[in-house]
Amino acid sequence: MKSAHKSFGSVLLAVLALSLAAAPRQDDPRAEIVNLRNYTHANFTRVVLDIGTLREYTFGELRDPGRIYVDVLQAKLNPILQGQSYAFKAGYINQVRISQKTASTVRLVLDVDFSQIQSYRVYHLFDPYRLVVDIYPHGKEAPAGAPPAKTRPPGDKTQPAVKRKVDPNDPNFNGTSMARQLGLGVRTVVIDPGHGGPRPGTIGRSGLQEKEVNLAVALALRTLLRDKAGIDAILTRESDVDVGLDDRTVIANQKRADLFVSIHANAHRDRRRGGVETFFLNISPDPSVIELAAAENATSTKNIGQMKSILEKIVQNNKIQESKDLAEAIQKNLCRALARDLAGVQNLGVKGGPFWVLIGGEMPSVLVEISHLSNAKEEAKLKTKKYRDLAAQGIYDGIMEYVHSLGKG
Ligand SMILES: [Zn+2]
Repeated sequence: MKSAHKSFGSVLLAVLALSLAAAPRQDDPRAEIVNLRNYTHANFTRVVLDIGTLREYTFGELRDPGRIYVDVLQAKLNPILQGQSYAFKAGYINQVRISQKTASTVRLVLDVDFSQIQSYRVYHLFDPYRLVVDIYPHGKEAPAGAPPAKTRPPGDKTQPAVKRKVDPNDPNFNGTSMARQLGLGVRTVVIDPGHGGPRPGTIGRSGLQEKEVNLAVALALRTLLRDKAGIDAILTRESDVDVGLDDRTVIANQKRADLFVSIHANAHRDRRRGGVETFFLNISPDPSVIELAAAENATSTKNIGQMKSILEKIVQNNKIQESKDLAEAIQKNLCRALARDLAGVQNLGVKGGPFWVLIGGEMPSVLVEISHLSNAKEEAKLKTKKYRDLAAQGIYDGIMEYVHSLGKG
C-alpha cells in the first residue's frame, strides 16, 4: 500500500503541475473542494466530499483492481487535500483517495473489493452541497437501533446505485424552502426526537432520560399536526432507537419535508437555570451555546470550532432567515403553552447555534430545547403527560403560526 501511495503521489504532483500551469488565476470557474470525510458505520461506510457549490458529477466502476470513482466537473482540489488518502480497516474498502484528474475534474477513487460489496449509492445533498458515497458490504444485518424501515436513510440496501445529475431547476437547489418558493404552504413536517437507543441524551437527577421525553413530545406533536392540520408529519425515529445526526436530515430531504423540527431537553451546569430556548443554524460566539451544541452533537467543543468553515458557507443561505422565523414562532408559542403548567417559565429566546443536525436539511430547520432536565422543577414537569402534551401543543401552535405567515396556511 505504501508504494501505491508513493506512485500515486508523484502522478498527482505531475497532474497538479499541469493543472496549475493551465489554470487561470482570475475568474477561476472551478469549485474548490476543501473537505473529504468518511464514517465507518456498523453496516456501511460513508464517504462525503464537501464541495459547497453546485457541480455536475459522474461516477462509475473500474475492475482489476476494483474501484468506484466519482468525477466532479468544474472543480479543483484545495492544496490541503492534494495527495490525501485514507486507509480503511473494513475488508470491503481498502482506501479512499482524491486527485485532480484533469485541469477541471477532480476524481475521488474508492479502492474496493467488489466480491464483498452488496451495493453502493452515489448521491448529492445540499446546504452545503456535497457528494456522498455509501457502500454496503454483504452479510451485514442492520445494526440494533437502526431506524424503522419506513424511515430508512437513502443507504437502503435494496436500492440500486442511482446515477444522478444535478438539476438547476430543482426547487431545493438554492436552499429556498419549497414552501415559500412554490407557494404551497406546508405539507410535510419532519419531527426529530433527539438521541435514542444507546444515546440517552441528558439525564435528570431522578433518572429521567432526554430521549424518552423527546420521543413522547414528538409523538404528541405528530398527532396534532396530522389530526388538527392535516399535515403529513414524519418522525426520524418512532421508538427507542438511535439514528445518525446526518441521517436525520437525509430522511427530511428524502421526504421532501417543508420543515424540520428537532426536539430536545436542555442541560446546564447551573441546575438553577431553567427555561425554553430555540435554535436555528448559525455560528455562535456564545460559549454556553457552544457547550450545548457540543453535547447535542456528541462531539467536542474543538470539533465545533472545525465546523466553522462549513458553517461560514451556509450562513449566507436564505434558509437561515426562514429557520429563524420558524424558531421565533415556536419559541413564543411554546413558552405560552408551558406557562399554563409552569408559572414563570423562562423565555431564553431564539439563538443561532452550530448544531450538526440542522446542517443537512434543505428546508427551514430548528432545534427546540423544550425545558431543562438539569433543573429539578422542570424535570418533575417533564415527567408528566400534561407538560409533554403542552410542549407538543406549543410547538404545534408555533408551526401553525409560521405556516399562516407564509400566506397559504
Ligand atoms: Zn438533546
